[in-house]
Amino acid sequence: MSNNPAEKSGRKHRGLLLMVVAPSGVGKTSLTRRLVADHGDLHLSISATTREPRPGEHDGRDYHFVSKDKFQEMIAQDAFYEWAEVYGNYYGSPKAPIVASLENGESVLFDIDFQGAMKVHAQAGPDSVLVYILPPSLAEMSRRLHARSQDSEEVIARRLSRAKDEVAAWEKFDYVVLNDDFDKAYADLAHIYHAERQKRSRNPWIGDLVGDLLAEDI
Ligand code: 5GP
Repeated sequence: MSNNPAEKSGRKHRGLLLMVVAPSGVGKTSLTRRLVADHGDLHLSISATTREPRPGEHDGRDYHFVSKDKFQEMIAQDAFYEWAEVYGNYYGSPKAPIVASLENGESVLFDIDFQGAMKVHAQAGPDSVLVYILPPSLAEMSRRLHARSQDSEEVIARRLSRAKDEVAAWEKFDYVVLNDDFDKAYADLAHIYHAERQKRSRNPWIGDLVGDLLAEDI
């Protein structure tokens, strides 16, 4: 449920683009899915991808699974806010639902990779908020990747090496959340979202309210 006071009162709120980036196996999906479930005014951007669905993944819920031809067609139609090639597959964030959410004063959460987040940030500027989720250690990240047994040794090695490059760029992010305890990391992420939503710049109605308050005869 939304607990945004501006929305409850019908006052116009400016949505934000919240990007949560983390190396694989750091719990990003669980954190972001819970944040969206707990906030009615935050919508997950469902990416299109050319990779095969993993067991348990559903088309339209986890990703829009599309062919390479379809993906190319979408690029040609300028249908993506951003797109990238990650580990040999294409991933992109469809533009239309993002624009629709922002027009409604709602926010969008992106579960995308580092390069995608940088591209969205370059386009959206201050409308975007970047959060990086840090694993407690690369050894723990490696343990989690092995435990979920979705990737080959080669892919795990690539993910670990990429994680090092990303972690080194931590200063590009507005916030860094350490996920050594899921509930604590979730609380940190939710607090970031709440505080960002309350920013003066995202609540232009405050100017009118202040004008009314100052005009009051006392
Ligand atoms: P996976 O195949 O493990 O679901 O995702 C691989 C990587 O692609 C992850 O880092 C994920 O966040 C990223 N990714 C997913 N969707 C998008 C997207 O729309 N754009 C970009 N740039 N990266 C994405």
